[in-house]
Amino acid sequence: MAHDLDIMEATVTYCCPNTGRAAEATIDLATDDAHQYQPHFCLACRKIHLINCVTGRLLGEKSLVPASDVH
Ligand SMILES: [Zn+2]
Repeated sequence: MAHDLDIMEATVTYCCPNTGRAAEATIDLATDDAHQYQPHFCLACRKIHLINCVTGRLLGEKSLVPASDVH
């Protein structure tokens, strides 16, 4: 039996850097290349974000620890 090459998908939740709101994206898991990003149309800000296929993180995403520079 031939190996099935179906493209697996995953839904990831990310924080839109433009609006600060949580949003969801469906990405293909066709690769395990941790350096490959997929373009995703963000419904929150209506722009394109690049999402890492492996980690679901946005390209250029800041650290999860928020900057505590409150005045
Ligand atoms: Zn966005």
